[in-house]
Amino acid sequence: MAKFQGVDYFKLDDQYSEEELMVRNMVREFVEKEVLPIIEGHHREATFPMELAGKMAELGLFGSNLPEKYDCAGLNNVAYGLIMQELERGDSGVRSFASVQGALVMFPIYEYGSEEQRQEWLPKLASGEKIGCFGLTEPDHGSDPGGMVTRAEKQGDEYVLNGAKMWITNGTIADVAIVWAKLDGVVRGFIVPTDIPGFTAPEMKGKFSLRASVTSELVLKDVHIPRENILPEIKGLRGPLSCLTQARYGIAWGAVGSAMATYETALNYAKERIQFDKPIASFQMVQNKLVTMVTEITKAQMLVYHLGRNKDEGKMQHQMVSMAKMNNVKIALDTARAARDILGANGILDEYPVIRHMLNLESVYTYEGTHDIHRLIIGADITGIEAFK
Ligand SMILES: Cc1cc2nc3c(=O)[nH]c(=O)nc-3n(C[C@H](O)[C@H](O)[C@H](O)COP(=O)(O)OP(=O)(O)OC[C@H]3O[C@@H](n4cnc5c(N)ncnc54)[C@H](O)[C@@H]3O)c2cc1C
Repeated sequence: MAKFQGVDYFKLDDQYSEEELMVRNMVREFVEKEVLPIIEGHHREATFPMELAGKMAELGLFGSNLPEKYDCAGLNNVAYGLIMQELERGDSGVRSFASVQGALVMFPIYEYGSEEQRQEWLPKLASGEKIGCFGLTEPDHGSDPGGMVTRAEKQGDEYVLNGAKMWITNGTIADVAIVWAKLDGVVRGFIVPTDIPGFTAPEMKGKFSLRASVTSELVLKDVHIPRENILPEIKGLRGPLSCLTQARYGIAWGAVGSAMATYETALNYAKERIQFDKPIASFQMVQNKLVTMVTEITKAQMLVYHLGRNKDEGKMQHQMVSMAKMNNVKIALDTARAARDILGANGILDEYPVIRHMLNLESVYTYEGTHDIHRLIIGADITGIEAFK
């Protein structure tokens, strides 16, 4: 297969700094060499390619926008976004692994943890020595996490946690879980080592999406953790929601990578596949599909580029992230479906990456705030009227 050339219809590459391009190209090469050759096998077997974790850590891909003081790469948010884009061109599950580790585990410890917690955990999470997960969603509370029933109770020098979480990425393979639970009716974050008595994380089976990613339940039954394991600097739902803003930011970039993968596959295929004595790329209806794909990818690239610059300048609002996540995942899913169509019957074979991306994106469309929840967030922002309830 020809080497990936990138999709850059509006010469956006001219806007990136040398460092940003260097980081992007490094991850692009990593994905070409290390991810693409093995990912279909893992997708088929429904296993996460754990062998990639150490290599990703070596390249500084975990929490790469956090400070060097904690052994992180200290990159700006555009470079961070480009990393997510390239990882998801490989597979949404690989990007999810890095998103959870960085945005949902390292970020809350960095932002809301004590200095001791940062010193203890961040270098180990950056090096991949420890793997983390983020437990917010519960069986009966998905889009409405404020209704969570997981509880923490103070007993002497300890907190005792009881409850259950569901759909938790990396749960079974994690060494540490950031668990959100109500303490005296207020949502708080807790750092929970997963080898502690009372904690179990059975893997959820039967997924037909994000198959190369571990998804788990977390069961907490009288889990005693020391008092120092609470995140001291945050109270209320704003804690987990602000982590989700960080992760959604990465998803908005990642979706562009997935769309680039399926568009490139469809374009190459259409140029080579002969029907009625001509390449199918010569038919107007096929061109129409390809043009829609590249136009939507270009618009999505602009959105995340400006989002990233705004984030670096401290001007990003969470509603902007909602718009980028909502739009980019939708266009990535539409692009994958159109690519599947252009490949005809071959579109359902895992010999091509298209069906895998298409299935993955069904999860990405739902997790980290469903498509419609993001519409409601933007709707509330522009009208001043909340329509959630
Ligand atoms: C593969 C995978 C990995 C995940 N990883 C994690 C993880 O690591 N950590 C974690 O905490 N969670 C994780 N999740 C959970 C994910 O964030 C939730 O699935 C998501 O928030 C949606 O919740 P739900 O599935 O319960 O859907 P529901 O909330 O039940 O929503 C079902 C439907 O109802 C709609 N809906 C709900 N409320 C409204 C409303 N007010 N107005 C209009 N429509 C509404 C939704 O848009 C959706 O279409 C993961 C999910 C998946 C699939």
